[in-house]
Amino acid sequence: MITDLDQNLKKVLEKIEIAKKKSPYNQDVKVVCVSKYVGSDKVKEVYDLGIRDFGENRPQELVKKYGELGNLTNISFHQIGTLQKNKVKYIIDKAALIHSLDSFSLAEKINTEAKKNGIIANCLIQINISLEENKHGISKEDVKDFIKKTDELDNVKVIGLMGMAPFEEDVEKTRPYFKDMRQIFEDINSGRINKYKLTELSMGMSNDFEIAIEEGATIVRIGTMIFGGR
Ligand SMILES: *Cc1c(COP(=O)(O)O)cnc(C)c1O
Repeated sequence: MITDLDQNLKKVLEKIEIAKKKSPYNQDVKVVCVSKYVGSDKVKEVYDLGIRDFGENRPQELVKKYGELGNLTNISFHQIGTLQKNKVKYIIDKAALIHSLDSFSLAEKINTEAKKNGIIANCLIQINISLEENKHGISKEDVKDFIKKTDELDNVKVIGLMGMAPFEEDVEKTRPYFKDMRQIFEDINSGRINKYKLTELSMGMSNDFEIAIEEGATIVRIGTMIFGGR
């Protein structure tokens, strides 16, 4: 089912440009190509088409692809899926950004492993915006206290938020979730409770990235629409 990567990617990039024009935030948008569906050969094809950021949800798979492709110029791997504490040590020096910081104990573990490696780990706090369906993530009520605590960890740098809307047949129904995410993001920055200004808002997947961008996403995570299957 993997068909014309070139055409698929062009279509995605065109849709991103159109959606950006409808956003009031005037933001840049980075595509993280979600490569969990494919092997390194296909990742290399997408790299050759100009994409530099790739997302994996399983740490083992991130480590494997990093081993095979990590020396390509400017390639970055993102940990986008749930991260178990015992897996942190494998990806800490390989992931450019961890999108799925969803508990303080995970933050502490990331801090410890980052310290061992002499690095600062860039992280996004995963927000549980679609409460009923997605159990992972920090609730919007708790996020400010959570940031205050994580900002005390020297080797963890929270640079933004990540969220997932529930799947909706009628994609317009995802909009309130993305609006909510952007509001939380703005509130944190304007409240100045955070050590680092939040610059990244990772939201939007194949089904709903256009709405997410219209509502202020700075990173979209797209797999299916690039690799086919829709
Ligand atoms: C798989 C996955 C995506 C990509 O989803 P598509 O619908 O294939 O674009 C994005 N984010 C996360 C966290 C994922 O696990």
